[in-house]
Amino acid sequence: MKIIAIGRNYTDHAKEMDNPLPEVPIFFLKPDSSLIKNNKPFFLPDFSSEIHHEVEIVVKIDRLGKNIKKNFANRYYSEMGIGIDFTARDLQRHCKNEGLPWEIAKAFDGSAPLGKFVNKHNFADIKDIPFRLEINGTIVQTGNTGQMIFPIDELISYVSRFFTLKTGDLLFTGTPPAGVGPVHRNDHLQAFIEDELLLDFYVK
Ligand code: ZN
Repeated sequence: MKIIAIGRNYTDHAKEMDNPLPEVPIFFLKPDSSLIKNNKPFFLPDFSSEIHHEVEIVVKIDRLGKNIKKNFANRYYSEMGIGIDFTARDLQRHCKNEGLPWEIAKAFDGSAPLGKFVNKHNFADIKDIPFRLEINGTIVQTGNTGQMIFPIDELISYVSRFFTLKTGDLLFTGTPPAGVGPVHRNDHLQAFIEDELLLDFYVK
């Protein structure tokens, strides 16, 4: 399986003036070794001193597809969940400045904690699903799928032009930029879709 993660998919109201909206989705990959399941702890790596949380809605692909049309994209997933796209911001800054690929900043071991999934039919409207991340009981990030620049079906359609999507592939759909910040040892992270706690783990 593969993990496809979308770069910028929510507007940053503070920066909208000097940062034009992307015309197409930006994405990168994470290997299966980046996954953390069953609420196991995340261990801070020794190669970064600035690990940032990015809470994201995750879509699980459950059908083989290539060049999927936008109107048919909803047939390719039935479950949605929530995950964290951990990012070594110090390394990412270095990669950006040097024009290097991002893998060491985004795809390292444990960089993709993944929560439980929910059937999409539990939601009245896929384009209006609120989600949030709490750290030590305080809300740090909130979002709603309705705020995505590229909705889920557009992401699936676009990504499948380049990569065949397979059963079990995961799509991390991007994070709302407000509130993204560092995690520290012993932080308790809890991610919710609507008011259901789906991901609950500690930083070690
Ligand atoms: Zn992200």
